[in-house]
Amino acid sequence: MPHMGMPIWVVVTWVDPIEVRFLSKRGFGMYEDKTLQCKECGEDFVFTAGEQEFYAERGFQNEPQRCKPCRDARKLAARGPRVYHTAVCADCGGEAKVPFEPKSDRPVYCSDCFARIKDTTEAE
Ligand SMILES: [Zn+2]
Ligand SMILES: [Zn+2]
Repeated sequence: MPHMGMPIWVVVTWVDPIEVRFLSKRGFGMYEDKTLQCKECGEDFVFTAGEQEFYAERGFQNEPQRCKPCRDARKLAARGPRVYHTAVCADCGGEAKVPFEPKSDRPVYCSDCFARIKDTTEAE
């Protein structure tokens, strides 16, 4: 005798849209602007929520110690002053100051001659 078949139970699971977890959005609403004091100039500055998130993402443990102008100034200082090398101008024989180490296989020109040569080259 053939089997008439087993009853099939269809279970429909509805996903309630209210269940979508907005809070799972990482970092959302975790940070608030914070006022800190710059240890360089003593001015108050705002460590914004965005900056805090930026710091957290990079794993920085410490809050910034300085305001933005002071940080920028330090960054510039860290790069150091431009060191000029003195060489003899290949054209006029005068003193040439160049922002790179003069190489013997390359002629060095003073700024006047360099400007003149550049002009000539561009005119061609
Ligand atoms: Zn400062
Ligand atoms: Zn010269």
